[in-house]
Amino acid sequence: MIGGPKAPIDRGSVQIQPAEAPIGIARRKKRKMNKKYAELLKDPRWQKKRLEIFQRENFECEWCGSKDNPLTVHHDYYRYGKTPWEYPDTSLHCLCEECHGIVTKWKKEIKKHTEELLIDNLTQLLGYIVGLKLSNYPDESFDVYDYEMAQGVGDCFQMTADQVLYAKHLNKGQIDGWMLVYVRKQPKARRKNGKSAS
Ligand SMILES: [Zn+2]
Repeated sequence: MIGGPKAPIDRGSVQIQPAEAPIGIARRKKRKMNKKYAELLKDPRWQKKRLEIFQRENFECEWCGSKDNPLTVHHDYYRYGKTPWEYPDTSLHCLCEECHGIVTKWKKEIKKHTEELLIDNLTQLLGYIVGLKLSNYPDESFDVYDYEMAQGVGDCFQMTADQVLYAKHLNKGQIDGWMLVYVRKQPKARRKNGKSAS
């Protein structure tokens, strides 16, 4: 049985499946990646970028304004294969270690709760995410998959789902921040037309 799958462990009525092997491999891989990433953080190109971000923010935490706490550079997101310094400056933030810990914790919580959501709620959440993104980056454009997603977007723009679907109709199937603001400004009679258009 060495190396092969173990039989399920019988603990009374609870059957525990032998999931140790794949998790072990995943952990080892993650540890290896973390080590590789830690090496990249010593690279002079990252040290230079890091200093530039600190200087841009006058060595102050962007979130709490602290000048005393140790500072760190926070990445909004990671992409496989990119080095730490290959991200746009707008996605890098000067945060104190305390705030960085909070943001990291929240991101983990969002991921966990998202995984536990019902499928029906997923498009609405996607709508909120897209709505928030468009509030910050109105030039980007996204598809809206269903009414629930339109509701999520609408909540971010103080609009109804019908208005969002009307904006999608006007914009040839995609929504962007500017079109949403344009539709929001329309008088009510115009919005009514939007109900039949999707
Ligand atoms: Zn802070």
